Amino acid sequence: MANNEEVFKKVISHAKEFGFVFPSSEIYDGLSATYDYAQNGVELKNNIKEYWWMAMVQMHENIVGLDAAIFMHPTVWKASGHVDAFNDPLIDNKDSKKRYRADVLVEEHIAKIEDKNNKDVEKGKKRFGDAFDEEQFRATNPNVLRRLEEIKGIEDRLQKVQNENDLDGFKQLIEDLGIVCPVSGSKNWTEVRQFNLMFGTELGSVAGDAAKIYLRPETAQGIFVNYLNVQKTGRMKLPFGIAQIGKAFRNEIVARQFIFRMREFEQMEMQYFIKPGSQKEWYEYWKEARMKWHKALGFGDDHYRFHDHLKLAHYADAAADIEFKFPFGFKELEGIHSRTDFDLSQHEEYSGKKLRYFDPETNESYVPYVLETSIGLDRMFLAILSTAFKEEQLEDGSERVVLNIPPALAPVKAAILPLVKKDGLPEKAREIMDVLKFDHNCQYEEKDTIGKRYRRQDAIGTPYCITVDHQTLEDNTVTIRERDSMEQERVAISELERIIGDRVSMKKLLMA
Ligand code: ATP
Repeated sequence: MANNEEVFKKVISHAKEFGFVFPSSEIYDGLSATYDYAQNGVELKNNIKEYWWMAMVQMHENIVGLDAAIFMHPTVWKASGHVDAFNDPLIDNKDSKKRYRADVLVEEHIAKIEDKNNKDVEKGKKRFGDAFDEEQFRATNPNVLRRLEEIKGIEDRLQKVQNENDLDGFKQLIEDLGIVCPVSGSKNWTEVRQFNLMFGTELGSVAGDAAKIYLRPETAQGIFVNYLNVQKTGRMKLPFGIAQIGKAFRNEIVARQFIFRMREFEQMEMQYFIKPGSQKEWYEYWKEARMKWHKALGFGDDHYRFHDHLKLAHYADAAADIEFKFPFGFKELEGIHSRTDFDLSQHEEYSGKKLRYFDPETNESYVPYVLETSIGLDRMFLAILSTAFKEEQLEDGSERVVLNIPPALAPVKAAILPLVKKDGLPEKAREIMDVLKFDHNCQYEEKDTIGKRYRRQDAIGTPYCITVDHQTLEDNTVTIRERDSMEQERVAISELERIIGDRVSMKKLLMA
């Protein structure tokens, strides 16, 4: 069986071959860690956005949308803390000249220890089969316990050096753990330094400090500075939320793993303004609600886990990630952050404008607290693509590559295929296309054998292939072939609009 790294490579080449993701400026040999979404990719991306937008805005009477500018007044980033504290600790290996994030080196070291435990569990499963009690094994096996203790010790030290911004301590930790550069294999490290992740640029033609602006490193601040505008014009009462989808830019030290970590990416963020003191309750609420949104896609509950933050950002009083099982392991997909009144208070201070809420129930005015949900659209795209990608052996001995993308998110919902390119079948297929295209992204295809066309549609994840054959001309019925089971059923053309509409509806996901 192919290992995960191989699978990931296949996903990347599949994404290119079938028009999902292209390297940016490829004719100039590309630009590092920058990608373009192609004809099928952009459809999948738009559908993910729609699923999120519907779940957040349309399903909640008290959440509204926003589309703020990418450029913002430079003081915004002073107030938010990004100018002073949006840093990552970096370290270079003197032999390979490769640059790393110091915290990631330590986390990868921890992951290796976790892997050893997982391997022991796998061994136990193989040896004892159904009689193996994983929970008990993890709770009692001396090797597993010793490693957990070791991990705890490392995590405590990591948390301490990060919280205290102790860069010498960071280097010491890397040395004590004996971490080697994956490229050179050496322990010849530089000091650890802080590196600010914001991209700066100049506004207008006059260069100088005053005109220096930043590309936003998160969409959240566009929401905070509009808090009062939205609250007043929308006559919003607490609790209420503002949702936004948009580009963010971070000069990541190491951008890699395809679209997992890029310097230009897209976020889907929602800031929920709440009464101070209620943050714990809303934190739990949004953790659960967001996890439900993910699990509704049906990839399997074992693909998700919560990870509580060890190091809280300067603005947070609680934070957890929803991690997803990517081909390269569990990694952050979404963050849920209890941001307190940090952002609004800072903007009050720096702008000199009051950003309060008058509570008609208590006759008090206060700065609301904020609960944030923040998910990377590109990471969500990668999560779906890499999990949906399947290489299947069929009963007749042939193979197929299929993307089991949930129908509501699939780039093309239905392919309309005349069995042959004559006898009036193309015209009949076109008639069907002309009905369905108003509601769905459909594709008309008449080239090659029907089998080849099915395979091409499988490879881009089209859930339904509608085939027009000679019987269609006699009784106005067609076959619908379902992507995953490959089963076919015969239905009346007059029923198609309803059947396809029901099966690809977002409603199923939203009601799950
Ligand atoms: P990481 O620890 O992976 O750097 P983060 O904790 O800095 O991520 P947040 O600031 O919480 O990330 O951003 C919210 C979401 O935005 C993340 O959960 C992730 O899905 C996405 N995201 C962050 N940085 C990137 C990036 N460089 N490329 C793609 N998506 C990103």
